[in-house]
Amino acid sequence: MKKHVRVLVIGGGAVGVSTLYHLTQKGWSDVALIERTELTAGSTWHAAGLLPLFNMSYTVGQLHKYSVDLYKRLPAQTGQDVSFHVTGNLRLATSRERMDEYQKYCGTANTIGVPFEVITPARVKELWPLIELGGSADTPAIVGALYHPDDGHIAPADLTMALRIGARKAGAQIYEHTEAQRIDRTASGEWRVTTSKGEITAEHIVCATGNYARQTGRLLGLNVPAIPVEHQYIVYDESPELKAYRTGGGRELAVLRESDQSYYLREERMGWILGPYEKGAPARFADGVPDWFGRSLFPGDLDRLLPHVEAAQRRVPSIENCGIKDIVNGPISYTPDGSPLIGPAWNLPNVWLNEGHSFGITAAGGSGWQLAEWIVEGEPGIDMLPVDPRRYGDYTGKRFVVKKNEETYRNVFTIHFPDEERADARPAKTSAVYDKLDRMGAVWGQRYGWERANWFAPQGVERKDKWSFRRTNYFEHVGNECRLMRERVGVIDLSPFTKHEVSGPGAESWLDQLVANKVPTKIGRIALCHALTRRTGGIRSEFTITKLADQKFYVVSAGAAERYDSDFLRKALPTDGSVELRNITTSRGCFVVAGPKSRQLLAKLTDTPLDNASFPWLTGQTIEIGLAVDVHALRVNFVGALGWELHFPIEYAHHIFDALFAAGKDFGIGMVGMRAMESLRLEKSYRMWGSDMTPDYTPFETSLDRFVRMNKGDFVGKAQLEKQLKAGVPNKFITVEVHGVTDADPLGNEPIFDASGRIVGRATSGYYGHTIRKSLAIGYVRTELAAVGTKLSIEILGERKACTIIPESPYDPDNHDLRA
Ligand SMILES: Cc1cc2nc3c(=O)[nH]c(=O)nc-3n(C[C@H](O)[C@H](O)[C@H](O)COP(=O)(O)OP(=O)(O)OC[C@H]3O[C@@H](n4cnc5c(N)ncnc54)[C@H](O)[C@@H]3O)c2cc1C
Repeated sequence: MKKHVRVLVIGGGAVGVSTLYHLTQKGWSDVALIERTELTAGSTWHAAGLLPLFNMSYTVGQLHKYSVDLYKRLPAQTGQDVSFHVTGNLRLATSRERMDEYQKYCGTANTIGVPFEVITPARVKELWPLIELGGSADTPAIVGALYHPDDGHIAPADLTMALRIGARKAGAQIYEHTEAQRIDRTASGEWRVTTSKGEITAEHIVCATGNYARQTGRLLGLNVPAIPVEHQYIVYDESPELKAYRTGGGRELAVLRESDQSYYLREERMGWILGPYEKGAPARFADGVPDWFGRSLFPGDLDRLLPHVEAAQRRVPSIENCGIKDIVNGPISYTPDGSPLIGPAWNLPNVWLNEGHSFGITAAGGSGWQLAEWIVEGEPGIDMLPVDPRRYGDYTGKRFVVKKNEETYRNVFTIHFPDEERADARPAKTSAVYDKLDRMGAVWGQRYGWERANWFAPQGVERKDKWSFRRTNYFEHVGNECRLMRERVGVIDLSPFTKHEVSGPGAESWLDQLVANKVPTKIGRIALCHALTRRTGGIRSEFTITKLADQKFYVVSAGAAERYDSDFLRKALPTDGSVELRNITTSRGCFVVAGPKSRQLLAKLTDTPLDNASFPWLTGQTIEIGLAVDVHALRVNFVGALGWELHFPIEYAHHIFDALFAAGKDFGIGMVGMRAMESLRLEKSYRMWGSDMTPDYTPFETSLDRFVRMNKGDFVGKAQLEKQLKAGVPNKFITVEVHGVTDADPLGNEPIFDASGRIVGRATSGYYGHTIRKSLAIGYVRTELAAVGTKLSIEILGERKACTIIPESPYDPDNHDLRA
């Protein structure tokens, strides 16, 4: 075994071997992989080999598409057949909501370039002659289906072998029966891995250990939120009907998914493989995989399988004539949101995760591709935030992950409404005033482990969402909250905001080279600053930076970015001790107090003058509110109203809240939830980090030019911006009004078409602007089409709607409210 390599991959399943292969394709040949037993010995050997292109995520969709394309090329490159059966994939719908889900997905597929067809029941029968179209109480009628002609199934072990051949040809080493048992940092900053066969030192290590992710994490002091769940499929004997159909010249049937009954069905040697996502499947190995497990499987659990078997028999009656040959019940790695963990580990340099894969055969190609890009180039080639391991935080303790993973598993096939909020492991993290908001009718959602009030049900209104792709039960109440904010004064609890304090003699110059805007130099000034990616100049983070005092800055970013931003800042710190970074997220709460009456209200609680001359827009002061001291009052907000964000020491949360509501009675104060905030910010064309601002677009494309200072010193991403300015900015941020919407507003990820029907861009967010009474989307189109007044169309749930590019900030374009 080599003593030193540039990258050591730990784990020889499809995902690890793909990572190794892609590193070699990027030209890094001094790379090796260790596998504790044999390649594919983890989950890979027993996977059913399905390669579904369907995925609601723009990022994961791209990874899957890459895989499917790669797997078609691999045999020619490596000489190893991978048994890719391009059978196509048919997803049935038996309800309008399910068709809405497919149509919503089609928007994403269109923007990624994944071919699909939405087909009629008659076409389903043509493609799949053995099916019953249904129409009875126990077998609902098929109302349509989504058909992917390009995917199918593959032999996972053969795929892994093909990747192995490709990697080895390019110089990679693979050591089987070599277990990583201990990992230490060397004095020079490399990683020394002690294995069952000796030591090997590496510049970078990649953990791709499947069901062992938590054990491997422990070797590094990481609490990795990946715990497997039991997953089963049944292998049937030959089906006489299927055999007759196939020997009669019928082509291999498409992989069938009856989503509403939570199972898939595919051909296997003239019989079937039937795989359900059952209720009650338990998480396993929360404390690690026991030594005895090895290549084993769990005993099959027929009781859990039975409802799905019966549903499949009703849909494909000939299944009843087949005997069961085998039940495969294996551990399948899961994460709380069902997406994998691909990217850097937090706190540790040059440690990378490619863990938590529940569709790891499908994702192996794409995850290896992007992780290799990341390691070699320093950054990935596409926006990887939805799979970045740092999208989770410290809150993912064992019990949380167990509950969430079991929940995610049983919901694989449920309809994924855009406003869906799942119930398990809640409430976990709550703001200090959670109980008060609860009594005020909060209808809760969860983000980054935090409970957040999505909307407030007035007295007598049921505190429950009726999830939908269309306007639904809370529409009117959200509208009322928007009007409250625009006409009187509203409070939003944004305590989950990520908050850092940066101080020290080097603080200002360090921050300044990290972001594109000029960091405020005057005490009390606030600047909106974007950290860009080095590779493309795309937006990685957004920070609201306030200069609190000499050498002291208060840095606020999105609540869900806590670990993502904290890790980024920490890893970028200078080593000379000139800058101190403190994550103070949970020691300060935040209430937004905004609306035309906010000044009058706050004036009752503080002696600090709040008039424009004393407290202008985009400034902050540390003030007293009632009995509370040390409150950072920042005159900014995300709703486009006169108002302040009050960032207070957490111990004053109740006092400030009660004081606001006592003093606010006369002004008609009320609470405002996240959904109203979404509507209000879209009326102002405010971009949201993570959806509208991503590494896929530079600040010039995002039309945030006013926050970029090309004439200041160097900053991360500047060189790329210079290049882009020379070459031309390819896309431009736009706001569109969508015409003729009666009940389905855009929500993001809808394709945008020009007059000739060509896709020319995509919406990244959308909603109804309640106070301007317009359906709105924001997003990107090709620059040449971005002029105000351009007529385009946007596809919402399968319907093309006319839309017009309108000037930014359709509500109060001159910011009179903000500056009032
Ligand atoms: C029943 C079932 C059906 C499935 N069907 C499909 C499907 O149809 N399509 C699909 O896309 N996915 C499917 N999956 C999921 C798929 O199997 C996994 O997502 C995929 O195999 C994960 O690959 P991996 O490389 O991440 O992990 P694994 O294949 O589990 O590989 C991890 C490897 O790491 C090794 N390892 C662990 N610790 C160490 C250490 N300390 N040192 C060295 N080596 C170590 C292990 O021995 C193992 O070989 C299915 C899963 C199950 C259980």
